[in-house]
Amino acid sequence: MGSVVRLRVKVHGVVQGVGFRPFIYRLAHRSSLNGWVRNTSGNVTIEIEGREMDIERFIGSLKDDAPPVAHISDVATETIAVKGDSGFTILESKAKTGEYQPVSGDIATCSECLKDIFDPGNRRYLYPFTNCTNCGPRFTIIRGIPYDRPLTTMNRFIMCPDCQAEYDDPLNRRFHAQPNACPKCGPSLLLADREGNAVACCNVLKKAAGLLKEGNIIAIKGIGGFQLACDATNSDVVVLLRKRKRRPGKPFALMMASIDEIKKHCMVSPDEKGLLLSAQSPIVLLRWQRDVSNIAEGVAERNKYLGIMLPSTPLHHILLRYTGIPLVMTSGNISEEPICKDNNEAMRRLEGIDDYFVLHDRDIYSRYDDGVYLVERNEVRALRRARGHAPSPIKLPFTSRQIMACGADEKNTFCLTRDKYAFLSQHIGDMDNEETLEHYEDTIKLYRRLFCIEPEVIAHDMHPEYRATRYALRFAAEKGLPTVAVQHHHAHIVSCMVENNVSEPVIGIAFDGTGYGRDGNIWGGEFLVCDAKGFERIAHLEYIPMPGGDSAIRKPYRMALGYLLTLLGKEIPLKNLPVISRIPAEEVVIIKKQIEQRFNAPLTSSAGRLFDAVSALAGVRGEIEYEAQAAIELEMLAPDDISNLDAYPFTIEHENGILLIRLKDLIAAIVSEVASGVPATIISGRFHRTVARIIVNTCCIVSERRKIKSVALSGGVFQNRLLLNLAIDELEKEGFRVYSHRIVPANDGCIALGQAAIAHFS
Ligand code: ZN
Ligand code: ZN
Ligand code: FE
Repeated sequence: MGSVVRLRVKVHGVVQGVGFRPFIYRLAHRSSLNGWVRNTSGNVTIEIEGREMDIERFIGSLKDDAPPVAHISDVATETIAVKGDSGFTILESKAKTGEYQPVSGDIATCSECLKDIFDPGNRRYLYPFTNCTNCGPRFTIIRGIPYDRPLTTMNRFIMCPDCQAEYDDPLNRRFHAQPNACPKCGPSLLLADREGNAVACCNVLKKAAGLLKEGNIIAIKGIGGFQLACDATNSDVVVLLRKRKRRPGKPFALMMASIDEIKKHCMVSPDEKGLLLSAQSPIVLLRWQRDVSNIAEGVAERNKYLGIMLPSTPLHHILLRYTGIPLVMTSGNISEEPICKDNNEAMRRLEGIDDYFVLHDRDIYSRYDDGVYLVERNEVRALRRARGHAPSPIKLPFTSRQIMACGADEKNTFCLTRDKYAFLSQHIGDMDNEETLEHYEDTIKLYRRLFCIEPEVIAHDMHPEYRATRYALRFAAEKGLPTVAVQHHHAHIVSCMVENNVSEPVIGIAFDGTGYGRDGNIWGGEFLVCDAKGFERIAHLEYIPMPGGDSAIRKPYRMALGYLLTLLGKEIPLKNLPVISRIPAEEVVIIKKQIEQRFNAPLTSSAGRLFDAVSALAGVRGEIEYEAQAAIELEMLAPDDISNLDAYPFTIEHENGILLIRLKDLIAAIVSEVASGVPATIISGRFHRTVARIIVNTCCIVSERRKIKSVALSGGVFQNRLLLNLAIDELEKEGFRVYSHRIVPANDGCIALGQAAIAHFS
C-alpha cells in the first residue's frame, strides 16, 4: 500500500505559457493524487499528496513527459506535513517581487489546432488566431509576468462563454491558454489598401491570396511584426519589391506550405526537415535545386541556398493554402531598420512599399524577426536567433552575478545574466538608425522587468564609437556602476566557449569583418590563447591598410588594391588585372596616395577583408550591395568537391613574440592565376583551402608551444559553410578538439554573451 506523504515541488525553467499546469493537473488526476499547482513569478510550485510510490512515479513523469516546449532546468522537492486535501486544483497565480520566470518564445501552430482550422465543422474553421496551451504567441504578447491574460495584449478581448468554458476546463487543450480566442470573441483581420482604407471583402485571406497571385505586394501583420509578401515565382514583382524596399541584393526569405512543396525546390535532409517542423519554425537555409525550381532568380541571386520557412501561425497556414504558391516573406522594414509592429507605424513606415495591408487588432508587444538557422555537420546552427528561440535562456556553466552586456553595433543582441541563466536578446539589428536604438533600449527595459535584473556590472565593447558602448557608459554613469571594456574577438571566443561549456584555455580563432583592437587597429584575423579571464594575441593575419576606411568595405576593389600595393608594390603589372582596370584612374591615384601617406587608411588584420580582396581580385565582386556579399559570392562559386585543389603558398613569421601570417605569396599566386585566365571557381576553391591551411598550420605551431589541443572558432567568417567544414576536418585530422557555434550565431550576435561571461570573471 505505502504510506501517505506530501511533497512541495518547485520546478524551475521555461514552464509558463507552455501548458505545464494543465499537464501537471492531468498527471495528478491520472494517479489520483491530491494537492495543487500554482504559477509564481519565480517558478511553478506544486504540493502533491498521496501514496509514496504514486508520488515517485508522478515526479518521474513530470520530468520525462513534460510538454514539448517546456524546458525544465531544475526540480526541487521537500517533504512537508500531510494536509489531507481532497482532489487536485490549480490555484491563482501569485507574483512575488524580485522573483522571475524564464519565458517561452512563440510556438508554431500545433497539429491539433491545424485540424481545427481546416475542419469545416469546427467553430474555429479558418480562424487565423487559433491557438492552445501547446502553441501560439507567447513572448510577443507578454507585457509582464506571471504569464496570465491580463498581462498580455489579449487583455482587451473578453472571452465568449464557449472560450471561457475551454479556458476553465482542466481537461481541455485550451485550459488556461492565455491567448485563447475564437471568431466570436477574438482578434479579427482587416484588408486595407495602401492609403489605409478598408477594402470590403468577406474573406480577407482569400482576397489577399488573389491579390498576391495578381502580382501585388502585401504587408502582413505577422506574429512578431509586419512581413512583406509577394509571389516568389514572379520575377517582376520580386524586382519591384527590391526596388521599393531598397534592398538590392540580399536574399529574401520564402514561406512554403509544406515539406513536400519545399522539396520541389530544395534538398531537405532529415535534420533540416526536423528543424523546419520544430516548434520554433525558423527560416532554414536549404540547398537550392535551380534546375527543378521555379523560384525567381532574383530571390537569391548567385546563391546556392534558399532561406525557407513553413507557416507558423494559422494566418500563414490559411494564406498559403489559398495562394498555393511559394511566397517571399521578408521583414516589413526599409533596408536595415527594425521590423514594423503597430498598424499605424506600418502605414507610415511602409508607405510606398506595399500595395495592400493585412491588419489585425491584436497588438504585438515585442518586435521579433524570424529566426535564421542552418544544419551543417549534423548540427543545427543559428545565424539569427530570434522568433521562437529568444528569450529562452542559455544555461551558463557558472552562477552569474547580475550583469548587463551591451553587445556590438552590428547584428546587435544584448545579454542580461543572473543565477545560471544568460538571457540573450533576440536579434536587434544594426545600431545605425534611431528606430533600432529605440528598439534596443525598450527591449533592454522589458528584459530587465521580465527577469527582474538590476545589473551590478556593465560590459561593453572596447570600441569607443559603438552606440552600444555609449549606451553602456551612459547607463553605468547614471547608476554609478562599474564597467568592463571587452575586446571584440575575446568576446567572440568566450561566447563560443560558454555555449560549449568549456572553461580551460583554448586556441581561439576569431575571423570576422571588423573589431576594435587593443592597439587601436582593426582586428579580424585573430588567434588568441584565452579563457574568460584574459587573452593573449598569439598570431594574426598581417596588417594591410584599408584605403578610405569604411569605403574599402563597400568597395572590395579598394581592399584588393590595398593588398596589391602593400604586398607586391611595383612587382606586378597591375594593368593586366581586370579588377584594377575597371577602377577610374583618378580613384586609383587617390587610393595610392591614401596607402602611401597612410591617410584615411586604417590598418586591418581582418579575415573578412581578405575574402573581399580575393573576391575582387578573382573578378567575382568589386562593389557590394549588402554586408559580406563579395565573400558570400566567392564561397558560392567554389566547386562542390575541392579535394583535388591545392592551397596557395603563405608564410608564418615570428615577430616580437607574435606569429604573423604573411600573405604576399598568396596574393602573388592569385594575381598570376587571374592573369593566366584560371577561372574564379578554381581560385575560390584554392583560396578556401588556403585559409583552412593557415588555420591548421598556425594552430599546430601554437599548440606545440602552449600544449593546448582545444580550438574554438568564432566570427562571421565561420558562417561560410565551406570554410567551417574544411577548418574542422583539417583541425580534427591533426588531433584538435574543435568547438564551434550552434546556439548563438558566430557573427556579432554572439558578442554580448561573451562580454557577459568575461565581465563575470573580471
Ligand atoms: Zn495548438
Ligand atoms: Zn470565443
Ligand atoms: Fe565580430
